[in-house]
Amino acid sequence: MRCLFRFGAGFTALLAVAACGGPAPEAPAPPVPSQPAPSAAPVPITAAAARQVGADELGRVPVLMYHRLAAQPRSVYDRTPADFTAELERLAAEDYVPVTTAELVSRRLDLPAGAHPVVLTFDDGDPSTFSLTPQGQPAPGTAVRILLDVAAAHPRFRPVASVYVNEHPFGGDPDGRALRWLAEHHFEIGNHTRQHTNLRKATESAATAAIAEGDALIRKAVPGYQPTTLALPFGSHPRREELALQGPGYSYGGVLLVGAGPAPSPCSAEFEPGSIPRIRSQSAGAEAAYGSAHWLDELGKPAGHRYTSDGDPATVSYPRSEGAVAPACASVSLAY
Ligand SMILES: [Zn+2]
Repeated sequence: MRCLFRFGAGFTALLAVAACGGPAPEAPAPPVPSQPAPSAAPVPITAAAARQVGADELGRVPVLMYHRLAAQPRSVYDRTPADFTAELERLAAEDYVPVTTAELVSRRLDLPAGAHPVVLTFDDGDPSTFSLTPQGQPAPGTAVRILLDVAAAHPRFRPVASVYVNEHPFGGDPDGRALRWLAEHHFEIGNHTRQHTNLRKATESAATAAIAEGDALIRKAVPGYQPTTLALPFGSHPRREELALQGPGYSYGGVLLVGAGPAPSPCSAEFEPGSIPRIRSQSAGAEAAYGSAHWLDELGKPAGHRYTSDGDPATVSYPRSEGAVAPACASVSLAY
């Protein structure tokens, strides 16, 4: 069995142009690959090769959480375009490769040997996350456009992300054009409920309706698209937590929290699809100890227990000292 799961398309969000005082000067959009870059021909990994590359596919994965790009941040959830760009440049320099949440929960990540997965998530469908120009290109200054530009300069850095939307994303998108662009370019479109409902405060039926209605809006905007993950508004589960993963009209492979640390590998026995932690993108200020700059420092240390790919998507390689493999990955595991 080569693949345990196949994931759907992913997608990204973009930076707020309006919040920055106007769009950046028009520049040609970078070329957007219509298909993911093909992998090299698979070579079965050996324990010696896994050890040599330091493979640890039970290691931890940063799932970074963004909300809004703004020239003048109003809260710890905002990042300036410059800070966002710098964070992407840092990730590329440290050999991180973006994957979507859907790809992560599929438990089979296809990355070059020695690379580390990172998930870029954007909540709330802010206009700074994504919009299209009248010509149908990602608008300058948006997060998606910045991601495309960084990826164009770093060929291993895949321009994909997971964008969690409510009704009327990106300041409107009444015809669903922006959502369809994202899906067509391998970004993940995830559910964030129709109206950003606090699911813990809702009745059971209201909570499941909020999720199902958000799911239906995405499917209506992007015919044939099936959302596969949910980001909990405010990080709050429904009172019956399992209703975040499955309910009338929806079924998900993963549910994202709001805080506050790296996620276990999806092949670790510690991985819980219904409660995947995220890290707020942040480099300084209050609670920076929970932010991305801190956690990327920690993950980069020799004892950082960071997910490092063996380069073979059909095998899950890890040091024997790393811990227990999830039953779903046991048949393809290689401990060294
Ligand atoms: Zn939100």
